Amino acid sequence: MKSIFGMTLEEMQAEFSAQNLEKYRAKQVAEWLYKKFAKSFSDMTNLPKDLRAALGAKYRIEKPTLRTRLDSADGRTSKFLLVFPDGASVESVLMRQPYGNSICISTQAGCNMGCAFCASTLHGLARNLTAGEMLAEVLFIEEMLSKEGEKVDTMVLMGSGEPLMNYDNVVCFLRLLHEKYVLNMGYRNITLSTSGIVPAIDDLAEEGMPITLSISLHAPREELRTDLMPINRKYPLADVVAAGRRYAEKTGRRVTYEYILIRDLNDGEREARELAKLLKGQTASVNLIPVNPVPERGFERPTDESVASFCSILAHQRITATVRREMGSDIQAACGQLRSRHMSAEEKLQ
Ligand code: SAH
Repeated sequence: MKSIFGMTLEEMQAEFSAQNLEKYRAKQVAEWLYKKFAKSFSDMTNLPKDLRAALGAKYRIEKPTLRTRLDSADGRTSKFLLVFPDGASVESVLMRQPYGNSICISTQAGCNMGCAFCASTLHGLARNLTAGEMLAEVLFIEEMLSKEGEKVDTMVLMGSGEPLMNYDNVVCFLRLLHEKYVLNMGYRNITLSTSGIVPAIDDLAEEGMPITLSISLHAPREELRTDLMPINRKYPLADVVAAGRRYAEKTGRRVTYEYILIRDLNDGEREARELAKLLKGQTASVNLIPVNPVPERGFERPTDESVASFCSILAHQRITATVRREMGSDIQAACGQLRSRHMSAEEKLQ
């Protein structure tokens, strides 16, 4: 059976016309799948019964089920552990921000980038997610919000996985999300975060999708970045920043650099000055993130003073910097922490 959830309208039309079905049926099915949250063909009550049965015999509608849900004490952040039919699990997060509902979506089940501070990579990469599976994460939250008369407003691809290592599926997913018959989400409301896959950054700049690019830097020197992010061996810091510069020039969009602050490791005056020098003259801003300590990783949060001093050194060098507001640290909202905890529990059972 073929999976239909995640097909574009054009793909469905091609499928249906190959089976001598009327073209407008594809539009009806797309509407049921992407606007009305149908779980099976039997939900599609404006299709003739025999057509529903025929489609049900030919196509699967693959949706994840909710395994665990955690809500922060203030009720503004909710984290969902979703499981796909083959057992692959991913985390998705809803953050109710003053400017709207923002969601954080995973692009891979697990991750193999090996970043030293991150929980997502602890168990390696299980597999890439398909465009339909990423869309299913979004629609799971959209359906929940629709019951409160709300909707998803903005999205960040900052959950588990390296989006640019799953390039084709991610680009298909973003195009789908932008379609009128899906969420009609503006590209400007989408941010993609990458550990710096240089050739894919250049490809992305050519896609004609004005999404915001966020690059995880975390260190202003090659050897320090290699210690934290092994991908730096393949795509060194200098090349990553040059690719960020090209992306900004090509798309006219400001690039954001993420910089995790880890106590006594990369949060000193020296690093702040080096970072400012590295980014000088670029249409860029820096997002400082006090590290969310993951027990398995053993890094400590910076002091408030070092965060403030890091920020002010950047400001003096005319680099726009913001400190990320923490949401949901009480519910293990750092990348991959919930999934990792569940996997450890399961492994212990074996
Ligand atoms: N692979 C992509 C996107 C997923 S990670 C990337 O590397 O950008 C999203 C962001 O969360 C990255 O900036 C990542 O470095 C950060 N992150 C991972 N673990 C973290 C932790 N323990 N504390 C704070 N930020 C973390």
